[in-house]
Amino acid sequence: MFVDSHCHLNFPDLAINIEELLANMRNNEISHALCVSVNLQDFPQVLALAENNSNLFASVGVHPDYENLTEPQATELATLARHPKIVAIGETGLDYFRLKGDLEWQRDRFRQHIRAARLCNKPLIIHTREAAADTLRIMLEEGADRVGGVMHCFTESWEVAQQAMEMNFYISFSGIVTFKKAFDLRETAKKIPIDRMLIETDSPYLAPVPHRGKINQPAFVKHVAEEIAALRGISVDEVGNATTRNFFKLFNIPEAPNILKSARESA
Ligand SMILES: [Zn+2]
Ligand SMILES: [Zn+2]
Repeated sequence: MFVDSHCHLNFPDLAINIEELLANMRNNEISHALCVSVNLQDFPQVLALAENNSNLFASVGVHPDYENLTEPQATELATLARHPKIVAIGETGLDYFRLKGDLEWQRDRFRQHIRAARLCNKPLIIHTREAAADTLRIMLEEGADRVGGVMHCFTESWEVAQQAMEMNFYISFSGIVTFKKAFDLRETAKKIPIDRMLIETDSPYLAPVPHRGKINQPAFVKHVAEEIAALRGISVDEVGNATTRNFFKLFNIPEAPNILKSARESA
């Protein structure tokens, strides 16, 4: 059994095929998925997915790549997060790859998200690209360790992973780990303690091998698990069970006994 800890099912490429994607999840033992918010304008659609499907959860937050919008305030985010199907704040963080220039607004927005997470006591989903030092510094300054969370679609060094884990963060691997050129990341995936690891698709982006270049979907998270299992020399079930357990623990979700039980019985 597997969980996709990060996907964007409300994005148009996926939203038009939602029933098919949910069926593909069932057929590939993907028991749950977390639909991650990227802006408040589209948040109602993200929340609706979680409200209408018992095995989908949602987060609330504004992605660092979205410019020129009304900046969300910590209290506003924390209030939106009070819904029982909202299990995290994010995705938030820093992205110095996509955007250049004075990005103080991005750092301020990141701080608001960490404050929101502390206000509502829910974990953070953090996106960081070419900005690891500032990301870790702001996490430390704002006390992100009090709520913990996940470094999603991790592509940074082992040292960055270690520092994040010291602040109670999990490390999530996407389809990038199946790309043979991602040598350092594949080494990191061997070393991360299995009880700190999550898996994700970040769909519709980053389809893993053997679907590279296609539209990604939650069912493909199985390929991420298979690759990590091969790298570590352990069974796919071991990766699936550990990352599923970690998911429920991090996001404080009472386990869904029926789904877990039926998955076990059919195994
Ligand atoms: Zn991201
Ligand atoms: Zn994302």
